[in-house]
Amino acid sequence: MNPVFANLPVSVFEVMSQLARTHEAINLGQGFPDDPGPEDVRRKAAEAVVSGWNQYPSMLGLPELRQAIAAHYRHWHGLALDPDAEIMVTSGATEAIAGSLLALIEPGDEIVMFQPLYDAYLPLVQRAGGVPRFVRLEPPHWRFTAEMLAAAFTPKTKLVLFNNPLNPSGTVFGRADLELLARFCQEFDAVAVCDEVWEHVIFDGRRHVPLISLPGMRERCVKIGSAGKIFSLTGWKVGFVCAAPAILRVLAKAHQFITFTTAPNLQAAVAYGLAKTDAYFEGMRRDFQASRDRFADGLRSLGFPVLDAQGTYFLNVDLAPLGLNEDDETFCKRLVVEHKVATIPVSAFYAADPIRSVVRFCFAKRDATLDGALDRLSDVLRRSPA
Ligand code: GLN
Repeated sequence: MNPVFANLPVSVFEVMSQLARTHEAINLGQGFPDDPGPEDVRRKAAEAVVSGWNQYPSMLGLPELRQAIAAHYRHWHGLALDPDAEIMVTSGATEAIAGSLLALIEPGDEIVMFQPLYDAYLPLVQRAGGVPRFVRLEPPHWRFTAEMLAAAFTPKTKLVLFNNPLNPSGTVFGRADLELLARFCQEFDAVAVCDEVWEHVIFDGRRHVPLISLPGMRERCVKIGSAGKIFSLTGWKVGFVCAAPAILRVLAKAHQFITFTTAPNLQAAVAYGLAKTDAYFEGMRRDFQASRDRFADGLRSLGFPVLDAQGTYFLNVDLAPLGLNEDDETFCKRLVVEHKVATIPVSAFYAADPIRSVVRFCFAKRDATLDGALDRLSDVLRRSPA
């Protein structure tokens, strides 16, 4: 058996969701909303499955969806993408990431990654033969500097795997951060695979800047998006990849032998959804922001040190100032077993030298769910081992 997968533990999201079921806990671990998602988009999918085409769609994705993606990114980010040569639909962003890594990495290539990193990244890089070079980000700001990048990039750097906004920290990297990263990509002739699935889930009036939109990056970026995150339909697993034709051609070769294609009714419904007015996207942000604020205020009033949450479905608590005598994993186990609230220990997002004091909560839930969780958390700090 291949040791990369044979030696892997079960994903922390699956473990915590299973513990949540066993202990009948409120699940604020795995990131998915309570809300069923926009009804008109779901109806489109239902109609399309009853009256539409249910055989293999085009390998690159339904033309109407590729056109909708191009129009969406032209409108939101001023990007000019050719729907026939620069856009491909995948079965979720994870497939897009796996395919990009398989297609672009040659054994021995070095891959720059930022910790905390999404748990799928490292095994996929390793299975593709890549050698990881980590940039370690830390609370409370989770920012990278020129010195940190200089320590990670080498003449062997082939690729940077970059998640913005960043899960789990909820950090939104802005233009200055991106310019710094772009400078290193150009200097070391590296391609950036940009996991931007949280691009629409950002708060406080922020605007998402795709790395591919920066000068000099158009030919060396793979931009990955996710309908699951854009429409709060995480189970749909409809993702998309945008890249210059020379890169996309190779990514398509990987995709054709991984999933080949994606359910056509879901693609049709996503095409419809991407054309929604700005009001829909702004309303979605407003609703998530209200949930973030409600939950952050509640946690603060219970004495939890809450970190800034600029985007994603997640907010984090740093236990370090509380002086508790336990690490994040022990804390999370105790929370789910004794207090019946499931969360995610952020050390699970580090492959080396983990931060062990930060716990991630998913706030993309109804008020009643969040209030119920706060109620269950109300005596955690009073009962904590000092
Ligand atoms: N993206 C989700 C999260 O961060 C997890 C998805 C999964 O369970 N694979 O919580």
